[in-house]
Amino acid sequence: MENIIDGKACAAQLKQKVTAYVNFLKSEKGIVPGLAVVIVGDDPASHVYVRSKGKQTTEVGMKSVEHKLAEETSENRLLELINTLNQDDTVHGILVQLPLPKHLNEDLIINSIAPSKDVDGFHISNVGLLGTGQKSMVPCTPLGCLKLLKNHHNNNLIGLNAVIVGRSNIVGKPMAQLLLKESCTVTIAHSKTRNLQQVTSQADILVAAVGRAEMINGDWVKEGATVIDVGINRIYKNDNKTKLVGDVEFESVSKIAGGITPVPGGVGPMTISCLLANTAVACARINALEDPSDLIS
Ligand code: NAP
Repeated sequence: MENIIDGKACAAQLKQKVTAYVNFLKSEKGIVPGLAVVIVGDDPASHVYVRSKGKQTTEVGMKSVEHKLAEETSENRLLELINTLNQDDTVHGILVQLPLPKHLNEDLIINSIAPSKDVDGFHISNVGLLGTGQKSMVPCTPLGCLKLLKNHHNNNLIGLNAVIVGRSNIVGKPMAQLLLKESCTVTIAHSKTRNLQQVTSQADILVAAVGRAEMINGDWVKEGATVIDVGINRIYKNDNKTKLVGDVEFESVSKIAGGITPVPGGVGPMTISCLLANTAVACARINALEDPSDLIS
């Protein structure tokens, strides 16, 4: 279908650009960008993500470091490790895989990462910089969504009515900041929003980041709207097997939308490519080089 926004292809293109930039850093500057990923505990899904991140980091020519810590790791031990990584000149990006086990204070841990190496963009300094329109590290998932949207709209989102369903710190809120910066008129909806269907059906751009399988159907979407589905939900089919679906009911919405991201193959692949792009950008900034503009714009 021609209205499908191909996240896989877009992510592959971005990965190629990152690879080219890494080659430039190596050959012209003698620098190898490095990404350290820290995972605490045994959550199988998190381990899958971390493996995939490590593999792709190596594929673009960067150094990949993984620290796998036991579930019962103390806060002090984790803070010590982050401090060591903050001071390690061969590490330019640090990512602590979330969620952390309950006994660890997530805010404290995230805010202990050096802001210049915070490639997830969750440190309070980066959140503040983004919110005030200054140069920052931008969270990977909303950055990936923005790139897909700009690509689909020939780089011009000015004046469009954007509705984001979901107000999390990792997706909804930074997505709103990014779209505001593009001069969209932005609405953030959430679980307490009244007449949600009425709100979503006004949207030229609809971003769904809820975590509820196929909640948004064709009756909720304006004809021709661009729909970005961030949700990843595993559901049981009739044969008792499982499959991944988004927050958007693809079948009905794809008949109405002007553009729609599939799940899987939409936002997911872009998130990892944006993590690699952020690491390259962090490396450039730490080494006082110009931003590689084609990686973050
Ligand atoms: P989250 O922290 O759980 O936030 C969910 C948001 O949805 C909350 O703001 C919540 O509102 C809102 N919500 C829940 N039920 C609602 C309803 N019935 N109507 C309207 N709003 C409702 O989730 P998240 O971390 O942002 O993630 C959202 C989804 O994206 C999940 O499926 C997650 O797996 C996926 N995700 C995908 C990627 C990727 O790379 N593709 C990355 C991150 C997340 P309240 O604030 O009022 O509770």
